[in-house]
Amino acid sequence: MRMSAIRWLSSALALALAVLPAGAETATFPARSGSGAGVTAWWQGKVCPGDAVFVRLALGENAPSGKIGGSLEFEKDGKKVGTAEFYEVPDSSGRGRRMALAGIPLSSYLSAGKGTATARLTAGGAEIQPAMMPIEIVAKEFVKETIQLDAANTAIKTNDSDERWRQISKLNKILGTRTDADVFSLAPMLPPTGATRRTSFFADRRIFAYSNGKSSTSLHYGIDYGIPTGSKVRSCAAGKVVLAEMRITTGWSIVIEHLPGLYSLYYHLSKMDVGVGDMVSAGQQIALSGATGLATGPHLHWEMRLNMEAVSPDFFTGDFTFEEAVRNP
Ligand SMILES: [Zn+2]
Repeated sequence: MRMSAIRWLSSALALALAVLPAGAETATFPARSGSGAGVTAWWQGKVCPGDAVFVRLALGENAPSGKIGGSLEFEKDGKKVGTAEFYEVPDSSGRGRRMALAGIPLSSYLSAGKGTATARLTAGGAEIQPAMMPIEIVAKEFVKETIQLDAANTAIKTNDSDERWRQISKLNKILGTRTDADVFSLAPMLPPTGATRRTSFFADRRIFAYSNGKSSTSLHYGIDYGIPTGSKVRSCAAGKVVLAEMRITTGWSIVIEHLPGLYSLYYHLSKMDVGVGDMVSAGQQIALSGATGLATGPHLHWEMRLNMEAVSPDFFTGDFTFEEAVRNP
């Protein structure tokens, strides 16, 4: 009894250590002589496959005025992994610095190893001193599972109707929309339910076994919480509701925009409490959970998309924008 409890505790601890992102790293990259301005950068030195590389920058006092732009690039083993554009965010420390943020989604299939993020910021069209930051990708195991579908769920999964394809293209258009001014939340996100029982995990490698004997493979894009129909569902952060409707595969569905290119998604709901265009606060009730759409039982599916890619929701419950690091240097 005692030994197994200790073994459980130590394996839970090992899991927590493997999953928790490291604290923020920070460094100042001074201006080269005659080149104008330097930057101070915040980033995470260690992230996992399926997380994201976020970098926050504060411009030096001599930075040119005008619109902030430029790009962040992440490279590993000499290959470009991804890029993203910077957008302006407020300096919540009260020091009045001009600040920028950018985030690159990382595939859950990315291998472990060391990489480099390079920020090439511009202000008023002028280039600022580039900042280069070492980032290590730490290996993470993902679950493999086979899910048996009955005839009704098989029909949903293999639905090839125009209506379903219209729904998919509408959602993709929303998730591909990136509006620089839409900075609604920089705080660490809250889980959308108080329940902690997870019936599926982010990036599970799935095989769907159909009722007709055929099968297909897919990746699970979010976290499933096993909660009874009618449980409260809360927005994980402040934002704007950009989709709230019935969909063939995902049932009653809500999508909320939080930052340029960053969205949270809630599926299989039974009752909707918000509509498109509504502004919501962090923790605000937006719906009741259910089992609508493709579901083998009542559950809440919570998903995060960054620049269209599904990323680990758990990543966003940490200080991913470095808001706390900036406030408490
Ligand atoms: Zn799910």
